[in-house]
This record gives sequence, C-alpha cells and structure tokens, in this order.
Amino acid sequence: MQLISIQNYVFPETLEEAYDILKSKRNNTVLGGCAFLRMGSKNIGTAIDLSKINLNYIKECDETIDIGAMATFREIETSPILTKYFNGVLSESVKNIVGVQLRNSVTIGGTVYSKYGFSDLITALLSLDADVVLYKQGRISLEEFLQKDFEKDILTKIIIPKTNKKAVFKSIRNSNSDYAILNVAISKENTDFKIVVGARPQRAKIAKEASIYLGKSKLTSEDIEQTSSIAAKELNFGSNMRGSKEYREVICKVLVKRALMEVL
Ligand SMILES: Cc1cc2nc3c(=O)[nH]c(=O)nc-3n(C[C@H](O)[C@H](O)[C@H](O)COP(=O)(O)OP(=O)(O)OC[C@H]3O[C@@H](n4cnc5c(N)ncnc54)[C@H](O)[C@@H]3O)c2cc1C
Repeated sequence: MQLISIQNYVFPETLEEAYDILKSKRNNTVLGGCAFLRMGSKNIGTAIDLSKINLNYIKECDETIDIGAMATFREIETSPILTKYFNGVLSESVKNIVGVQLRNSVTIGGTVYSKYGFSDLITALLSLDADVVLYKQGRISLEEFLQKDFEKDILTKIIIPKTNKKAVFKSIRNSNSDYAILNVAISKENTDFKIVVGARPQRAKIAKEASIYLGKSKLTSEDIEQTSSIAAKELNFGSNMRGSKEYREVICKVLVKRALMEVL
C-alpha cells in the first residue's frame, strides 16, 4: 500500500521562513496541491504548506503576466487574463486534465518545479518564453530550468512576457483522463515561431531547427509539411506504456501540422 506520513505540518508566513525549514532537514517537503505527492509513498519530516504566503494569484502587469506558484489549474483555465492573451493557450492546455476537482487542487508551482515529462502546461508555457522565479536561484528561463539538475528550492512564480503571440496547443491521448502520448504547442508573433513538443515522453523541448525553418519560409503547405518533418527528426522520442518511439515520431508530424494550420 502507498502511504505518505507527515511528522510536522507548518504554515510559514514568509518565503524566507519556508526556505529555512525546507533546507533544515533532507525530508522536509513543500506542498503544492498534494495531488501527486499523495500518489506515492513518502516519509515527510515537516510538510511546508505555502498557503499563507500569498502565492495564489494571476496578475496582469505592464509588460508581463505573473502567475503565483499556488495558482491552481482551474484558476488558469478560467482566468479572464489568460483567456484573453495568447489565444488562450494556457487555459486550453489544462482544461481537459482529468476533472474539475483535480484541477481545483493542482498547482502551477508543483507542476513546473517537478518538470514532469508528461506535463501539458509546461509545453504551453515554453512556447511563450516563460521564466521561472525560484526563491534561492532567482529568475531563469523555463527552458534553462528544465535542463538543470534538481536543486531544493521554492518556485515562487512564473513570468510570461506580455506579447502579441498567438499560440495553439494540441495533444493526443488514449482516453480523456490519461496522460498525453504527445503534446505540442506552437506560438507565432510575426515571423517568430516557437514549436514545442512534450510528453516525448521526456520533458518538453523546443524544436529549434523547425522553428527557424518555418520563420524563413513562405508558409506554403509544402513548408508546413517540411517543418513537421524537421521537428520529428531533430527531437528524440522514447517508448513507454502509452506509445512507442516510432509512433510518437509519426504523431509529432501530425500534431505539428495540425497546430500550424491553426496558428497560421
Ligand atoms: C491522477 C492525476 C492525473 C494527472 N494528469 C495530468 C495530465 O494529464 N497532464 C498534466 O499536465 N498533468 C497531470 N497531472 C499532474 C498535475 O497536473 C500536477 O502536475 C501534479 O499533481 C503536481 O501538482 P501539485 O500541485 O498537486 O503538486 P504536489 O503533489 O503538491 O507536489 C509535487 C512535487 O512538487 C513539489 N512542490 C510543490 N509546490 C512547489 C513549489 N512551489 N516549489 C517547489 N516545490 C514544490 C513537492 O514538494 C513535490 O515534490 C495529473 C495528476 C494526477 C494526480
């Protein structure tokens, strides 16, 4: 039987306090919505609940949109700010994940910090040039963060530049409530494209060659075809219970093509 046990449970009121507790013992653990933590076995020394630190917000600033670590998927899905910008791609990426009950509890902080390969939200965020802000490591691009080794820290917010990017999210799943076999997000602003593929099943990655090729092309149907082939070739795919490497390669071409037709 899988079980988590918690020795102490605390509600720090500042990030400094939360970080000090996190660092003071190896098995002290930050809690997000606990949806994923609950699925495994873990012996937690002190559980650090961030809900008194005001990290639950989605704010439109002058040049950015800031999302606090404790904002839930449901809040992202229904936020008037996020449905207004980027063609609503963030809302689109989370709106079909399992059910409202789960989306009401899972947080952007728990998702992005954990760098899940299957994540739909990370794929969409990567297409928008998002940055992550960590208490200790400071602000770094999401792209760089995904490549770094894990380091104990607290993710405090996500910052997205407020651009005129139009973006589209696509995924394919065996059933509605299952993880994606593959997901794709593509953003476009003038001739600047960003093609991102996730659930490969490894972490989301930008298909850089394909993005550059497309930006220099005339955007004909042959160019779209060629772009999807470049993306499938430049990225690595793997096999798991949801699909084989070969299947993902084929699906990548299809999803990139579909997303491009829509974004164009
Ligand atoms: C049944 C099920 C199905 C799912 N299906 C999908 C799906 O199809 N697509 C998809 O994209 N996602 C899916 N998810 C994942 C989900 O969207 C979340 O990514 C996941 O639950 C983690 O979010 P959480 O807030 O629950 O984190 P938690 O479970 O609370 O924490 C997860 C990890 O992150 C750490 N953590 C939490 N917050 C922070 C923080 N602010 N700073 C540093 N560390 C932190 C915790 O210590 C823990 O190690 C699914 C989850 C479940 C349970």
